[in-house]
Amino acid sequence: MEKFLLKNIENPNSADIQEFEKVGGYKNLKKALERAPKDVVEEVKKSGLRGRGGAGFPAAMKWNFAMADPKFPKYLMCNADEGEPGTFKDRPILEKNPHLLIEGMVISGYALGSEFGYIYLRGEYPEANVILNAAIRQAYEANYLGDNINGKGVKFHLSVHQGAGAYICGEETALIESIEGKKGQPRNKPPFPVNVGAWDMPTIVNNVETLSNVPYIMEIGGEAYSQIGSEECPGPKLFSVSGHVEKPGVFELPMGTSLKDIVYTHAGGIKNGGTLKAVIPGGISTPVLPADAIDCPMDFVAMPKAGSMLGSGAVIVMDDSVCMVKVAHRALKFFEHESCGKCVPCREGTDWLRKILERIDKGNGREGDIELLSDVADIMTGRTFCPLGDGAAGVVKGMIKNFHSEFEEHIATKQCKYESRQ
Ligand code: SF4
Repeated sequence: MEKFLLKNIENPNSADIQEFEKVGGYKNLKKALERAPKDVVEEVKKSGLRGRGGAGFPAAMKWNFAMADPKFPKYLMCNADEGEPGTFKDRPILEKNPHLLIEGMVISGYALGSEFGYIYLRGEYPEANVILNAAIRQAYEANYLGDNINGKGVKFHLSVHQGAGAYICGEETALIESIEGKKGQPRNKPPFPVNVGAWDMPTIVNNVETLSNVPYIMEIGGEAYSQIGSEECPGPKLFSVSGHVEKPGVFELPMGTSLKDIVYTHAGGIKNGGTLKAVIPGGISTPVLPADAIDCPMDFVAMPKAGSMLGSGAVIVMDDSVCMVKVAHRALKFFEHESCGKCVPCREGTDWLRKILERIDKGNGREGDIELLSDVADIMTGRTFCPLGDGAAGVVKGMIKNFHSEFEEHIATKQCKYESRQ
């Protein structure tokens, strides 16, 4: 498949506006401005584009909710807060192809009737902050941002807001709170941000990859775009692959590419000819799959049927030297640390899960600990204020379901047979 999202990134100056324009950059914005905003939305609807941040919600449907709201101004927020372990798929766009994101945001803002956009950037991406700000300056100078874009009387202003390193600010309402200058904690939903978002105005929060797909839809048309990848989840998808593979990195492939193909063909197979043990397919918050369950399409519909989720498309590969108790323990340390503390099931639940996993990992596991882990995870599921709590519980459930004997062995022998191999 021809690359669009990662086009030209091998060029060392790919972030420069002139290099971007040489490969067709901003021509799709000009094309979009020749059409009525509602036609642009219709094209995105035809394409079947789904949000790439993890939830997979149809992009045009989200846009329509905000457009139907008469309140003004409307805000367009780009969620560039990719902070989940294993997830680095947006980074090449932010650092190597920032003008593609800017072009996508201006087209989307025009379509939605929004004149103000923000890029909420992960605090741990300082290079991207410098690159994005330089690209925004260039876009203003070239009249792709401002009060009269391309002489068409269209207004759109854009700025970067750098986060302070809290994972929870990747949740859309916590992101909005943070942009408003408040503590980054999720809000109650409903009302949804499309009606009551930033400063109580209609606000669309879309992921970097989602917005960067919009120029491509303008280029080839919604119909042609809908033919790429899987029927229910069309388009190209970025997969970040890390762990025990020969060629870790970010790959642009059709949505629905098999997880097995991603690991063995695109990422070069298991490192040093090793044996695959497990794969976490969509970032640390998605349930683990054992080696014999990875022959499944990577999209929002097929992955739940295979027992996990597409999430952000962050594939973490583990060979047979890895202790799954240790993986679960490390994952829960992360969730406990990142829990914002607003709701009891998550604040207490992640702490309990981490403590139980820690004692099993350290050789102090007790009889009944596996049942206790399952109980706590069950109590958390569906009872937390935002998806972080559900994600933490799902990780533990997936580990116990697929690697039960490993947990039993740790508790029975009070040691880890993998320790000498790591
Ligand atoms: Fe905060 Fe966790 Fe509750 Fe989300 S689930 S609001 S992160 S305490």
